[in-house]
Amino acid sequence: MPWNPEEEPPFDPFAEPPFDGEAPFPDGGPVSARGGVDAGRASTGSGSASPRAARSATAVAPTALEALEKIFGYDSFRNQQAEIIDTLIAGGDALVLMPTGGGKSLCYQIPALVRDGTGVVISPLIALMQDQVDALTAVGVRAGFLNSTQDAGERSRVERAYLDGELDLLYLAPERLRVSSTAQLLDRGTISLFAIDEAHCVSQWGHDFRPDYLQLSMLHERWPTVPRIALTATATEVTHREIATKLQLGEAKHFVSSFDRPNIQYRIESKNQPMQQLLALIRSEHAGDAGIVYCLSRASVEKTADFLVENGITALPYHAGLDSRIRAANQSRFLREDGVVMVATIAFGMGIDKPDVRFVAHLDLPKSVEGYYQETGRAGRDGLPSTAWLAYGLQDVVQQRRMIQQSEGDDAFRRRLGANLDAMLALCETIECRRMQLLAYFGETSAPCGNCDTCLAPPEGIDGTIPAQKLLSTVVRLLREKNQRFGAGHIVDILLGKTTPRTTQHGHDQLKTFGIGTELSDQEWRGVVRQLLAQGLLAVQGEYGTLAVTEASAAVLDGSRRVKLRKEPERSSRSAKKSKVASDLPAQSVDLFEALRAWRSSEAKAQEVPAYIIFGDATLRGIAISRPGSLAELGGISGVGENKLAKYGEALLEVVAAN
Ligand code: ADP
Ligand code: ZN
Repeated sequence: MPWNPEEEPPFDPFAEPPFDGEAPFPDGGPVSARGGVDAGRASTGSGSASPRAARSATAVAPTALEALEKIFGYDSFRNQQAEIIDTLIAGGDALVLMPTGGGKSLCYQIPALVRDGTGVVISPLIALMQDQVDALTAVGVRAGFLNSTQDAGERSRVERAYLDGELDLLYLAPERLRVSSTAQLLDRGTISLFAIDEAHCVSQWGHDFRPDYLQLSMLHERWPTVPRIALTATATEVTHREIATKLQLGEAKHFVSSFDRPNIQYRIESKNQPMQQLLALIRSEHAGDAGIVYCLSRASVEKTADFLVENGITALPYHAGLDSRIRAANQSRFLREDGVVMVATIAFGMGIDKPDVRFVAHLDLPKSVEGYYQETGRAGRDGLPSTAWLAYGLQDVVQQRRMIQQSEGDDAFRRRLGANLDAMLALCETIECRRMQLLAYFGETSAPCGNCDTCLAPPEGIDGTIPAQKLLSTVVRLLREKNQRFGAGHIVDILLGKTTPRTTQHGHDQLKTFGIGTELSDQEWRGVVRQLLAQGLLAVQGEYGTLAVTEASAAVLDGSRRVKLRKEPERSSRSAKKSKVASDLPAQSVDLFEALRAWRSSEAKAQEVPAYIIFGDATLRGIAISRPGSLAELGGISGVGENKLAKYGEALLEVVAAN
């Protein structure tokens, strides 16, 4: 990136490795160890129970609700799922904008089970296809994938299964469709629908643009009668329109959900000792939880991961400078093990489907509200309480303003970066509900949420005109009387009347404003500088990030404009020692929940699949609370479908009985 030397070089988490290159799990992990199709279900050579017999529900196509209940173990549809599913089953097209965790997958998985033939899912996230197929196999759905991580044998097994009508779902990388043999293969089987996942990749202006998505309009041209569904969690109006036109979805019904994520608690606090603050957050609220910590530079990723490890937390680094094998191994551990904290640059997280990420922490200020919302959105896909926490300080503002000034690119580009940063700063400094402001940014109106820091402990809006005047006049005097510019630290020293080598050497102890600001602490003055920067009443200049007044400052100095500042509320320290999900449980259920987690963990290890594929946290919670005493009771719990009941029912009842 031209404007930030610390920034990661673009690392493409979507990238298909070359055919003879490394697989995403090069250590003999799941991709290379197993084929694209679960051998027990869809391989044609096993000779034993036919794949159809494995799931009696599909001997006759199930209705949508039957599939939801029996296969996935849920009792009702969420949001607009039912309408979307009906549209597809009836043969219509759909364009779905739904936030992360909203339940997009079922919108195409269920119609694929109900309709005749195989649902073809186009997804750029090839590193995750194995997990998606594993998750489906675990509930008894016959799924496979075709991508470049497979060898010829695995590929032809999947192709055979498709042609024999033995696949409910087939995942394809978009690159595959460039090869004419893929289209010919699809022609020879029955396609129930096309699902275009991460549909925003078609947007040339977006940051996830994938040229191969542009040719997906061919799906409609070649198979005009096959219904299509395009899905994305990207909210902007522009992207929405672009998807509709580029994918020729002129006839599609549009389903736009609210982008609110009510289970995520948004919190932004000022940066003091960031690593200690992070540690306190993890220890007091997220002990044993999986989380992602975002840092801007590789160096701070390494430093933070080391610090967490020294303090007894299972933390791993992830950035583009790491050897790709280490990166892949770390990602795999994060997905598979319980309670791993990933410390990463923004290069990490795209398409990470892990549903039980309990917190996302930012140790550096994100560059835009979109980026912030996308990154924090990786928390709590399973709908359980989760935290989005950001520590932000003066240095962040100075650094980012400076990076924008020094960025290459034209003025319009810099203005756009500046506007993005301003919106992010406004979010940080607001005294109103964070969620209201976030949703407003995406064009939604809402009421105060009750689940963000400003709702829970409202900060005070105070009149900061006098401190602002003191500070601004110090900046002005330095320039007028001494022809000098300095950074925030020195200006605060002057206000506090500190005698340092610098103040005496330059005669700054003779300035009229020397020592006139002792009513505030160093930390509080830094807060004032930060907020004046955020409000455009101060500017950052040059290589050293010195402070300068702006056009708008004049009105403050002459008293014609009042300045409103945010007074940080006292933070109450929380004392919960259990993970967030556990601590929200009734006391008598906590031990059972932990026992169930331990059982799940060993089961996942034995099967070499991510823990959430066995059961999600929400389901374990349900079991811990209701303590089922029979298979019938257990089967009534959300997330326990027929397949999993048969497979794990007895073991679970034993865990319940023993705890
Ligand atoms: P998205 O792709 O929109 O991020 P997912 O499809 O991964 O969301 O769904 C998020 C979580 O919600 C998953 O754990 C999924 O099993 C669960 N889920 C989806 N639909 C329902 C439903 N109707 N009832 C209960 N849980 C659901
Ligand atoms: Zn709120």
